Amino acid sequence: MARKYDVVIIGGGAAGMCAAINIKLRDRSISVAILEQLSRVGKKLITTGNGRCNISNLHINLERYHSEDIRFAEYALTNYDNHYAADFFSEIGVVFTYDETGRAYPYSLQASSVVDCLRFALDDFGVDTFVDTAVLSYSKKENFFNVKTNNGDFVCESLVVASGLYSGGQKLGSNGSMLKILKNNGYKTVKTTPAIVQLKTETDVVKSLKGMKVDADVNLSINGTAFRGDFGEVLFCDYGLSGPPIMQLSREVE
Ligand SMILES: Cc1cc2nc3c(=O)[nH]c(=O)nc-3n(C[C@H](O)[C@H](O)[C@H](O)COP(=O)(O)OP(=O)(O)OC[C@H]3O[C@@H](n4cnc5c(N)ncnc54)[C@H](O)[C@@H]3O)c2cc1C
Repeated sequence: MARKYDVVIIGGGAAGMCAAINIKLRDRSISVAILEQLSRVGKKLITTGNGRCNISNLHINLERYHSEDIRFAEYALTNYDNHYAADFFSEIGVVFTYDETGRAYPYSLQASSVVDCLRFALDDFGVDTFVDTAVLSYSKKENFFNVKTNNGDFVCESLVVASGLYSGGQKLGSNGSMLKILKNNGYKTVKTTPAIVQLKTETDVVKSLKGMKVDADVNLSINGTAFRGDFGEVLFCDYGLSGPPIMQLSREVE
């Protein structure tokens, strides 16, 4: 028999957990379930910010959002700024600390403590979390969604898709499976491109510098034309380059 909830959330990452808690903060009588295909919720979150979780930023604004369509983020960035994030997280036990550039981290400097506080809040609010539960398809009939998983069916009035995309790879749950399912339900998708990733380069020079870190001005030239630059700590690796300025520039490289 299908399990019934007012709201089913697909994905137990940061977005899914925060959505569930926000629903409960507004109305505790709403029944909420999270369906997560991995064996635990928040697996990607634990790896973020080098294990410290760069959770927010004092200077969140639209000018700093990089996209072909910045209006897409306007509502979220205007209504859910750093004050909102700081208030929301302090309510569930995560206090922010800031570095000199305005980056926010949990006071513990441990991403795992953010995941723990989210998990405890889900328990306190009575959100049912189903792990090892991969959504295979869903359909809508009249006012109800029927969600098929490898762990039985779920029926709900509202369905939230918080399944992330490709960042971090399969081990962190990013297999793009929901994209296909959404397409089957008539949603249009846009082409995805990598961003905030390390860069592979020719290895003869960088290999010999493997492990070295230097503060450097990094300039990206495309077909001989200077394109963009950034400053920060560059890490030499056996495959190429890493570090914050490399990651910032990586979205321009295809
Ligand atoms: C190494 C690394 C470091 C990062 N550091 C930072 C940082 O410091 N600060 C920052 O702001 N961002 C950082 N990010 C980006 C940040 O982690 C992501 O933007 C954020 O985790 C996205 O959250 P999400 O809930 O949208 O998606 P996810 O965390 O990807 O969660 C989606 C969940 O949905 C599940 N799922 C997917 N499909 C299905 C399905 N069919 N059925 C059931 N479950 C499904 C997945 O298993 C996954 O657990 C980092 C990313 C990486 C990879």
